[in-house]
Amino acid sequence: MPTVFLEELDAETYQQKVSQPGSTLIIPTGATEQHGPHMPLGVDAMLSKAISGMVAEKIGALVAPVFSYGYKSQPRSGGGNHRVGTTSLGATALISMTEDVVGSFITQGFDNIVVLNGHFENYQFLYEGLDNAVSHSRLAGLSARAALLSYWDFVDETTLKKVFPDGFLGWDIEHGGVLETSLMLLLHPEKVDMSRVIDHPPATLTPYDIFPEDPARTPSSGCLSSAKGASAQSGQLLLDAVTDAVADSLRSEFTLQTNPSEVN
Ligand code: ZN
Ligand code: MN
Repeated sequence: MPTVFLEELDAETYQQKVSQPGSTLIIPTGATEQHGPHMPLGVDAMLSKAISGMVAEKIGALVAPVFSYGYKSQPRSGGGNHRVGTTSLGATALISMTEDVVGSFITQGFDNIVVLNGHFENYQFLYEGLDNAVSHSRLAGLSARAALLSYWDFVDETTLKKVFPDGFLGWDIEHGGVLETSLMLLLHPEKVDMSRVIDHPPATLTPYDIFPEDPARTPSSGCLSSAKGASAQSGQLLLDAVTDAVADSLRSEFTLQTNPSEVN
């Protein structure tokens, strides 16, 4: 069975794919972070890897090994870094990791690099690492281009209304909620236990952060909203919306391989 995941390729096959004009690599990024009692610690990494794989099949790209650790979970978007199971990188480490890995893939010959983010707090540090890597590669005479995105930003209004019929409160509060749980119910149903969902109102959060973190300010479930309304059907709506829209954006931004089927 052909694969888009480069860790499953031998070096010669990999080299042949990298050297084709329009070669494109998607780097999924996630976190190791608690997601309440009903889901595993690897949700952000699992979802970004799965979505990256589907987008890669649509556009003829390869997928790099996922970044399994992410930037510190923050109380207003991930429940907080103090929670058991949440194991994070600092900013410097994530910037360096992104810069080194992206720089290496560009040097090896990829024309297009896509960093597909699955953990809210990662974004600005991925931005810094990606910007540095591309800048350095330009100084070295290489012409690769790159894109950075968080997958949830591709959910359109129509899909939002279907998935959140009672109103949508924002992606930051979706930690362990309907978005991630619905996608997990579709992609990894055996890893979700809906009988353990704690049904509580959305977290009420201050518009500022305090240090040290105060565990009493976020729900003890570890989730920022309830996953009670999650379903695999909603997961399918979300997945289709995201993978179609991401693939369309990448097709419009990049010159991709003319015959994607050759990649598989
Ligand atoms: Zn998450
Ligand atoms: Mn997260």
